[in-house]
Amino acid sequence: MARILNHGAPTRISKSRDIGLFKARVNIVDYIAAALLVDDPTFELAKFNGDDEYRCLCPFHDEMVGSFSIYYTSQQFYCYGCGEHGDVLDFVIIRNEGVNDVMGAMKFLESTNALESVAKYPITSRTKASLGPIDPAQLATWHAQLLDRTWLYDRLITDRTIDRYQLGYVPSKEAIAIPFWQGLPGASPVKIVQMRSLRQDSKRKYFGYKGFYGSALFNQDFLSTKSDYIIVLFGTFDAMLARQDGVLAVSPNGANVYRSEWTEPFQQFEKVYIVPDKGNANEVKAAQQFAAKIGPTAYVRSFPDGDWGKDYTDWRMDGGSAYDFVDHILDTEQDRSF
Ligand SMILES: [Zn+2]
Repeated sequence: MARILNHGAPTRISKSRDIGLFKARVNIVDYIAAALLVDDPTFELAKFNGDDEYRCLCPFHDEMVGSFSIYYTSQQFYCYGCGEHGDVLDFVIIRNEGVNDVMGAMKFLESTNALESVAKYPITSRTKASLGPIDPAQLATWHAQLLDRTWLYDRLITDRTIDRYQLGYVPSKEAIAIPFWQGLPGASPVKIVQMRSLRQDSKRKYFGYKGFYGSALFNQDFLSTKSDYIIVLFGTFDAMLARQDGVLAVSPNGANVYRSEWTEPFQQFEKVYIVPDKGNANEVKAAQQFAAKIGPTAYVRSFPDGDWGKDYTDWRMDGGSAYDFVDHILDTEQDRSF
C-alpha cells in the first residue's frame, strides 16, 4: 500500500524527522481506540497474543469477529481481513475523506485536538480491566434484566430456551446477551458472550463482550454428541431455534470463523452439512472453506427454494417445519460441493 511514499512532494530528510517526532506524540493504540469509540459507543478493544497486540472490529470492512490488529511496539495497524495497514498517519488518511497525504494527516490530528483527546480515553487500561473469564454472576444479572422477551418470542424462541441458555439483557448497550457455553448450556463455562443490538440505528447488529474476539462455536457441546450427522448454520439464533426443534446444529460466531481444534470432533460424524443463508454468496464461499477444512465428510447444502426468507429462522417463521428442513438437507441426491 505504502500510501505515504506515493503522496505529495518527495520527503526531505528533515521532514521525515519531523514526521517521526510528530508520530512519537501519538500512541496508535490509544488514538485508534479513541477515534472508533467516538463513532461507536459499543466499540471494544481486546488484548490479543500477549502484551503487544490489540484487536477490534475493522473500521474498513464489515465483520463480526475482529481481525483488525494494532501493535504497540511497532505502532502499526494491520487488518487480517481486508489487508489495510500502516501507521497512525496512514490510518487518518484512509479513514478521513479530504485527508490525502502525510502533511494533511498531521494537520488533521492537530486541528481536531486528537493528540490531546487521546488522554481522555484511557482505553489501554480499560481493556486490561475487561479481560478475564466471564463472571457467572454477571450472566445471572443480565438474565434477570431480560424482562421484555417479545423480540425473542417473535423469533420463535421460547421461555424454556431463553432460560436454558441464560440469555440476558444489557440495558447500557440495549442488547441481548448470548452466552456461548463450552459444554451443556447453563452447566459449563462460558467461552464468549455475543451481543445482539436491539437499537434500530445500530451500525453493527452483533458485537462482542469481553472475550468475544476469540472464535467460538454456538452449541459446541453438540460436537461430542453421538449422531450420524451434524448441521452447521451461520447464525446464532438459527442454531438456537434448531436446537429447540431437536435439530443438531452448531454455528460459528461469524461466517469466516474456523478453529483447527474443531476438525477432530467434526470427524466423528459421518456427514457434516454446512448450510449458508439463501442467496448469500459470501456465506456460500465461507461454507466451502469451512467444508474444505473438515474434509471429505463435509457437504455444503442449500436451503429449500421458494418464496420465503433466507435462514433457518425465516424458514420456520414462514411455516416450514424442522422435519422438512432436515429431510431436505439429508437428501443425498444433492451434489458434493467439492
Ligand atoms: Zn479490514
